[in-house]
This record gives sequence, structure tokens and C-alpha cells, in this order.
Amino acid sequence: MGKYRVPYHLANGKLNPAWTHAYYVAHIAAVRKRTHNYYFAHKERLLALKKEWTRTHKKRVSETQRMYTLQIKKQAILKTNGKTCCAIDGCGCDDLAILQANYIPGGHSILTAKRKLPPGGVQLYRGIAWGRVDGNLFNFLCPPHNSIDHLREARDKFTIHWRG
Ligand SMILES: [Zn+2]
Repeated sequence: MGKYRVPYHLANGKLNPAWTHAYYVAHIAAVRKRTHNYYFAHKERLLALKKEWTRTHKKRVSETQRMYTLQIKKQAILKTNGKTCCAIDGCGCDDLAILQANYIPGGHSILTAKRKLPPGGVQLYRGIAWGRVDGNLFNFLCPPHNSIDHLREARDKFTIHWRG
């Protein structure tokens, strides 16, 4: 049992994760310092290994990025009104893969050009999810309803001719 009240080894001789965690908690500063020193002593080799792993596991990397985008988008939606595609006649579409962030007051591209808001994608979702961007100013719409919303905004500036 030893010092940490959990066995050092598992039955098959491998390190016990509970013991490893107990050790980490007991020596947190020393472990962090050691990890830090090891990283800087072997930085070039570690970065090369990481680069090589990324190159040979492209599918896994892109899948992880895709899952992260969907996850952070979900958190962003919860920071807005929590409803999906809730425009005037929205359909309530909740497919995370296709939902788009819509800046309710309009003129998102102007603010993007002035670098007041991220243009979109992960940067914008992260901003909303972490509270750096006001979630009350956004809603998430499906592509067709987002387009209709843009047309409504632009109605004062342009004349739209509907063809049946
Ligand atoms: Zn919709």
C-alpha cells in the first residue's frame, strides 16, 4: 500500500493510475517543474515528433478538430438564447454541423473589418462560449433562414424582385 494508500502496481505489473494521480497531487509543484524542464531540454525533438504524428494521423487530427468545433458551437448556443434557428419563421433546425452564427443587430462584416468581432468559425464560437463576446447579440440559424434574415436586413437598401 505504501505512502499513498493505493497500490503502486496493478496485478499485471502496470502502474496504477490512482497511485500516479496521488503522487501528482502530493508533488504537484515538483512534477510541473520537471515536466517544464524536460520539455525545454527536449523541445526540438518533441516538436518534431508531434509534427510527424500530425502528418501521419491527418484523419484523426481533422476528426478531433471537427468534434471540437461542434462542441464549442454547442456551448456558444447555450450562451445565446439556447434556441436554434429561432428567426421570425425559423424551423428550429438543430443540426450543429450546418447552423450559422447570426449577428442580430446586423453589420457583422463591418465590425469584423474593424476587428471588433471575430469573423466566424471556432474563434467566434469560443468568444461567445467563454463570454468575451456578448451572446445576447447572436442567434444560430440554418443556412436558408440566415439568408432570409440577411435579405430582411438589406430590404431597406435594395429592392427585391420575387419571381414565381
Ligand atoms: Zn431554419
